[in-house]
Amino acid sequence: MRRAIYPGSFDPITFGHLDIIKRSSKMFDEIIVLVLNNSQKNSLFSPDERVSMIKGLVESYENVRVDTHDALLIDYAKKNDAPIVIRGLRAITDFEYELQIAQTNHVQYEGLETVFLTTSLAYSYLSSTVVREFASYGSDISHFVPKSIIPLVEAKYKA
Ligand code: ADP
Repeated sequence: MRRAIYPGSFDPITFGHLDIIKRSSKMFDEIIVLVLNNSQKNSLFSPDERVSMIKGLVESYENVRVDTHDALLIDYAKKNDAPIVIRGLRAITDFEYELQIAQTNHVQYEGLETVFLTTSLAYSYLSSTVVREFASYGSDISHFVPKSIIPLVEAKYKA
């Protein structure tokens, strides 16, 4: 069984993330979308909110499940027998950071491999930061996130 983890903040999940989930679900037996709770990031959604948003969107994939973790990725990977990490690469600016993390994880957990999927052209500009930025000004975000996510994001800026 080839079990892979797709870790990230997903704050919120975008069409870019969903594209990576769809493509990687065809490559591995099981994908765990792992919402990492990064204490250094000020997040818009709680980890539980993010998990429930993602669950609603991946229901139709039989081999995709969603979980959350608030410690090191390698610990989760070891415990869950999931020695493959999937990351998306959008631009060269992602590369240096991703390379460093992948190499560090490999040193810390020798069997761990990181697989990079290049972004689909249609989503190469898209990030959760872009979504939050536009939503904070009350702008349309329908090109960035699925319909079910729009009211949830908008509600965060209405208070
Ligand atoms: P992190 O804070 O770990 O970077 P993100 O939620 O921003 O978490 O991203 C999770 C993963 O999804 C990363 O590998 C990132 O490169 C990838 N990703 C984000 N947006 C896109 C996109 N538009 N196309 C492809 N991959 C993406």
